[in-house]
Amino acid sequence: MLSDYIGVAPKGDLLLLQKICKKLEGRTFLHVNSTREGGGVAEILHRMIPMLNELGVKTRWEVLEGDEKFYEITKKLHNALQGNAEEITGEMWQYHFEVNRRNLKRLDLEADAVLIHDPQPVPLIDFRKNGKWIWRCHIDVANPDKEVCDYLKKYCEKYDAAVFSVAKFAKAMPIDEFIIPPSIDPLSEKNRELTKEEIDETIERLRIPVDRPIVLQVSRFDRFKDPIGVIEAYRIVKRYNDCILILAGSPATDDPEGEAVLAEVREHAASDPDIHVLLLPPFSDKDINALQRIADVILQKSLKEGFGLTVSEAMWKGKPIIGGATGGIPLQIVHGVTGFLVHSVEGAAFRIRQILTNPAMAKRMGVEGKEYIRNNFLITRQIRDYLSVWYSLENKGKSMLEL
Ligand code: UDP
Repeated sequence: MLSDYIGVAPKGDLLLLQKICKKLEGRTFLHVNSTREGGGVAEILHRMIPMLNELGVKTRWEVLEGDEKFYEITKKLHNALQGNAEEITGEMWQYHFEVNRRNLKRLDLEADAVLIHDPQPVPLIDFRKNGKWIWRCHIDVANPDKEVCDYLKKYCEKYDAAVFSVAKFAKAMPIDEFIIPPSIDPLSEKNRELTKEEIDETIERLRIPVDRPIVLQVSRFDRFKDPIGVIEAYRIVKRYNDCILILAGSPATDDPEGEAVLAEVREHAASDPDIHVLLLPPFSDKDINALQRIADVILQKSLKEGFGLTVSEAMWKGKPIIGGATGGIPLQIVHGVTGFLVHSVEGAAFRIRQILTNPAMAKRMGVEGKEYIRNNFLITRQIRDYLSVWYSLENKGKSMLEL
């Protein structure tokens, strides 16, 4: 219920959201992505779809189905868009399109507004029926592989609009472009307040020692999240400050590289009993919430990052955060105020030590961070922004007074 957010989300967000929902009441809104579990996109959709329906906008979520070959290709696309050198052959592009075409039998694409998330389902635009079609890019495309980006652009330009998380990701295209950062739901299982008993239950079940400070990173096992860099930073810190490191992650069904990266991480952690590599099952929201609440410092040391929901999640729990200065992370961390932005393993280690040895500063950063998230990155703001894009596309050319 929207009223549950009174006193949690900014009042202005709630009022505007209510107004825009009245305009779109009873209309249909479809979201399509490629996984129901794992990663930030699924995380947001799980919360946003029921909320939109409660607000009177008839919203559905369809998931594109692929096979192993398809996910290997789309992971390469993802990596290329984030700047890796990858070769995508003509045959691969054809297969990408073909899997989308095959999905038509299963997918109902009929809606007043269709939001297609990320490159996996981007070719669906060739089968549009009606409504406004918007492509939503969650990836860090600041420095993409040009060839791959140009190919994808051919699909994107057929959409009515594109939405990026960060201004510097936007590309020169002949369609409308909007900047909408993602958000967290403060009332979800992942972010709600937990009781001491609930936190203790997680600590006991996952056998987390709480006798020393805890350094935490929560992420899919993906090289762009730099889990190895996190271990190296921890090792530097460990020479001076006794602490434990938790790397918690679960697999995403559309990420075929997860297992290999997990194996690398385990090997790198070797036999250090103070490094806890936790492979969590999907939907371990309460456990992640509890881990974030017991941590003394939280890292998101990504090398590339579309947005990094884990940063907002950590800040919402009043924790000082150290993030890689990349993608959407600088949007969330006010350097020196709510946490620190870092560019290297050494930088991360330096900032971990600074936080561990300055509890008063850590506390102050946590308080500032929570307010920053409240004002900028809650789900109420994001839903309002999506609906505003849809509304503005339908009312293009009209003056404010006519709306
Ligand atoms: N997450 C999770 N379990 C895990 C690892 C991550 O539920 O084991 C969640 C995390 O809390 C966050 C989302 O997945 O909500 C990751 O989103 P983010 O934007 O940080 O990264 P992405 O995975 O989309 O690249």
